[in-house]
Amino acid sequence: MTIDQSSDARIAAFNLAHQHRPGRVVTPTTAAGVADAVREAAVRGDRVHVVATGHGLLAPVEGGTVVSTAALADVHVDPEARTARVGGGARWGQVLEAAAPYGLAPVCGSSPTVGVVGLLLGGGLGPAGRTLGWASDHLRRLELVTATGEQLSVTADSHPEVFRAARGGKHLPGVVTEVEIGLVPMAEVYGGGLFFAAEDAGRVLHGFVDWSRDLPETVTPSFAILRLPDLPQVPEPLRGRCVVHVRVVVADGDAEAGAATVAPLRALATPLVDLVGPMPYAAIGAVHADPEEPMPVMDGGVLLRDLEHGFVDALLSVMGPEQHVPFAVAEVRLLGGALARPTAGPDAVVGRDAAAQLFVVSAPAPDLFTTAVPAVAQALVGAVGAWSTGVVQPNFVGALSGPNPWVRAWPADVRDALDAVRAELDPAGLFAGPR
Ligand SMILES: Cc1cc2nc3c(=O)[nH]c(=O)nc-3n(C[C@H](O)[C@H](O)[C@H](O)COP(=O)(O)OP(=O)(O)OC[C@H]3O[C@@H](n4cnc5c(N)ncnc54)[C@H](O)[C@@H]3O)c2cc1C
Repeated sequence: MTIDQSSDARIAAFNLAHQHRPGRVVTPTTAAGVADAVREAAVRGDRVHVVATGHGLLAPVEGGTVVSTAALADVHVDPEARTARVGGGARWGQVLEAAAPYGLAPVCGSSPTVGVVGLLLGGGLGPAGRTLGWASDHLRRLELVTATGEQLSVTADSHPEVFRAARGGKHLPGVVTEVEIGLVPMAEVYGGGLFFAAEDAGRVLHGFVDWSRDLPETVTPSFAILRLPDLPQVPEPLRGRCVVHVRVVVADGDAEAGAATVAPLRALATPLVDLVGPMPYAAIGAVHADPEEPMPVMDGGVLLRDLEHGFVDALLSVMGPEQHVPFAVAEVRLLGGALARPTAGPDAVVGRDAAAQLFVVSAPAPDLFTTAVPAVAQALVGAVGAWSTGVVQPNFVGALSGPNPWVRAWPADVRDALDAVRAELDPAGLFAGPR
């Protein structure tokens, strides 16, 4: 176990808008080490913050003990059972890499650098979600260190309420040291992104709405209005421009059928860049091409009842290319398909009944974080109000999600069940919860 005692010890964080000043950072290398660290924090009277990659830290961590799971990052694939045992600090990219040689794949999110456990706890919405469901639908078992330092092996049968909380309940009071997840047989998909010019935004987005009606669940699409920086790492035709990025994954693996599915999108306008084609599932991170470098941002999302033309007009009226807004991303993911079906066993996933999700990320402009950024977000909330469910998918909660997004996330009976798990596992409130 490594302990960084310095008072200004920083934990690595993806969103640089927050500065974290934990009292100390502990990096255990075993589950027993995690249990020791938790007991010691309790004796010290420290609150415990769990951090894996720092991608999901929503507020500054001040004081207390950070238990970093970074050293618990082993991944073992069992090709016969089609499962993976994954350490509590591993990233999805490691699982993609370990599973690919067997023609297997994990049901992951858009970014391979995000942590496995952090994403699973919130449900986990991925680029092939309409085909494969939520990431947490594929959770089989987790190893949990509770607030008393007890080590629990949790399955749907052994601890059904804890298992439910781990599948979409977001805040599980404890440290997950390992998970076992199911893998799916998927080596290749037809997918990627089409980038369209700003002047085609209206035509492309309205065309997307028509095309996406009655799509089979083998197809998972999304689009984003991107304002890309004028930087060398952005490909030349897109550099410094506002563009529409249409992303799609056709998961039946047949390139000819995939091309036929995507043909109507390609016909909406002439893409500036066309990166859609047969691709290994292991490269799924290329579909959304999320940024890999930390930066300061404000973000937030909301689930949508319906994806229709009026919504597109409302979105464009605030976030369209001709608007001067300090936002890098305004993204809409189509839900439905396997994401709408109940899963086997207990779970707490938020979003099964939504048609789509809107998510926005500001420009990395901290000087606007108390002025233009929240003002534009507020204007957007007003413009799309008729289509919003008012509920935020827990993995997409951010500073722009409004007050108490967690309260709105779950129906009262599920929230009560989650509270009961917290009261049972952590009666003294040792664990700080998502920050
Ligand atoms: C670039 C980017 C892309 C994203 N794409 C998607 C996406 O496609 N789909 C989606 O659903 N979400 C997505 N997310 C959101 C992401 O799932 C959440 O932010 C998630 O919480 C990140 O988990 P982490 O472990 O990487 O981050 P961390 O900041 O390390 O952890 C976040 C929280 O998860 C909990 N946690 C993490 N590990 C453990 C553990 N071992 N034991 C107990 N608790 C733990 C803690 O409460 C912690 O505060 C994305 C986020 C980013 C930054």
